[in-house]
Amino acid sequence: MPQCPHQALSLHAGKVIWQADICQQCDSCLKMCPQQATPMAQTMSVEEVLAHLHKARFFIEGITVSGGEATTQLPFLLALFSAIKADPQLRQLTCLVDSNGLLSETGWQKLLPVCDGAMIDLKAWSSECHLVLTGRDNKQIKRSILLLADRGKLAELRLLVIPGQVDYLEHIEPLAAFISQLGDVPVRLNAFHAHGVYGEARTWPGATPEDVNQLAKALRARGVEKLIFPALYL
Ligand code: SF4
Repeated sequence: MPQCPHQALSLHAGKVIWQADICQQCDSCLKMCPQQATPMAQTMSVEEVLAHLHKARFFIEGITVSGGEATTQLPFLLALFSAIKADPQLRQLTCLVDSNGLLSETGWQKLLPVCDGAMIDLKAWSSECHLVLTGRDNKQIKRSILLLADRGKLAELRLLVIPGQVDYLEHIEPLAAFISQLGDVPVRLNAFHAHGVYGEARTWPGATPEDVNQLAKALRARGVEKLIFPALYL
């Protein structure tokens, strides 16, 4: 397929075949697809993931499953984390999930016995703003955050600073009060940048250190101290 500048894609019997060993991760194929589908997706069994983990186990402390939204494949997550916890050579690895927080309480009840924690994004304080930004309200996300904090399994709360779009500062009092009730949970402040973003958001300006610091200062003034700052700004 000539669209791949590194000849990592070919067409066989109507299917796109991706060669991982040649791919340069340039993402040209992602930008080309009108559905933002990736030809680089691979299907792996639990056993295949475990085989990779056995090779890597001396160099890692744990695994984090992300997505897309990893919890939409809950049966696989359950099977994977259960298999890791049952394996004498892997059970010391932490099993974390990076999630949008939309999993139901029943789903969390199933996952938490084998999951060490979850990182959850709260992309806006008000449901209205969250709906505009993501197409969904954030009621279930807040419920998930509270449930995870209550079980001691909220590994990190993430806020995304999008200048002119997000409403954290408008609602700083309830936001800070909500975070304060979560206990000793780190709050990661992520800086929005339009790289790799599709649709209207491509035109939004990226967050600067000043934007992030303004939110950090407002949170600290209300007792939220455990903040993690962006490693880089684009
Ligand atoms: S990311 Fe896509 S376009 Fe780039 S080398 Fe890999 S397969 Fe080819």
